[in-house]
Amino acid sequence: MQEKLGRIHSFETFGTVDGPGIRFVIFFKGCSLRCQYCHNPDT
Ligand code: SF4
Repeated sequence: MQEKLGRIHSFETFGTVDGPGIRFVIFFKGCSLRCQYCHNPDT
């Protein structure tokens, strides 16, 4: 089995953006695609 690793940038314990309800959100870092409208370009 191949192991996959990710790096965590930050987390939000009271996420209410982009949909109904309250969520625990984990933000990962390391994406290099640089989409024009990325919500988190600093990650
Ligand atoms: S929106 Fe941001 S995080 Fe998502 S793929 Fe594009 S650059 Fe990466």
